[in-house]
Amino acid sequence: MHIPKSHYVYEFSYPEGMPEIAGIVFYVGKGTGLQRMDQHLREAANGCDCGKCKAIRLVWDTGHVVVRRIVFESRSNSKTLNEEKRRILLHRSPHLTNVIQATPIYTNEDDNGKLPIIIRDEDCPPDSKSIFWT
Ligand SMILES: [Zn+2]
Repeated sequence: MHIPKSHYVYEFSYPEGMPEIAGIVFYVGKGTGLQRMDQHLREAANGCDCGKCKAIRLVWDTGHVVVRRIVFESRSNSKTLNEEKRRILLHRSPHLTNVIQATPIYTNEDDNGKLPIIIRDEDCPPDSKSIFWT
């Protein structure tokens, strides 16, 4: 695995060994360096009870490994954040664990006023936080 540029967007998806859900993205995240992706796996291994960690453990319990892909790289933090948002909207489904709210209470220019606000939830302790896109 090569070291990405300073900022990147990555996706976790279910592996081919789980045919009913293979290829479905269950988490989209943004990272810097290689640390962020590995951190999720540590959280899952430590028994974190959030949806993302449960999905990771579901993969492990069936004897497989989580498919991890870096899908975007940039030196620009804002471009990376925009791409993360775009991909979360793209992969929005009941399987996507980082979207916890999809009621159309707010729309913004980027979405041409059509898409609901999304809350990105980073709920793994110790850096628990929710980010509201406004
Ligand atoms: Zn977690």
